[in-house]
Amino acid sequence: MAQDSIDYACIDDDDLCLDNEASEINQLQLAALKEPQAQEDVDERLATVEFHCSGCNMHEMVHYYGRTPPFALGIKFREDSFVLRDPFQAPPPRWQSKPEFYVALGVKCASCGKVVCKDTSCSFYYTKTFCLECGKTELKNWPVEAQSRLRKQLAAKKP
Ligand SMILES: [Zn+2]
Ligand SMILES: [Zn+2]
Repeated sequence: MAQDSIDYACIDDDDLCLDNEASEINQLQLAALKEPQAQEDVDERLATVEFHCSGCNMHEMVHYYGRTPPFALGIKFREDSFVLRDPFQAPPPRWQSKPEFYVALGVKCASCGKVVCKDTSCSFYYTKTFCLECGKTELKNWPVEAQSRLRKQLAAKKP
């Protein structure tokens, strides 16, 4: 009887060891699961996308590149855009369904893919956004109004 109880104690110890190992693995897995989640929370508030206008050299870190910024609900840009959250806007609570203020700084030229800001000395919009260089090349295919609008814009451009 005494022998038996020692045996049981041993088995119990083994079980305990296994349990500990199992729960350690669980904890490790939990930690691994938690980490990217936490990072996502941080990233959402951080401007991690680099915007660099090829025209005027404006350089800014923005929050989003695409057409449907998650923080500007209901907004869908016609072109993939570099979008900055309004830096003066306090973060809204999670449950808030109103869009935040935001600034669309620029896009990629529809023809050559260069990044340009919305400034009239860097880009021209006719059905899509073009850098001024591509605008000059494309304009011969455009209707007269669009051509003269770009010509005016080019003439007004400061050197
Ligand atoms: Zn620019
Ligand atoms: Zn271009």
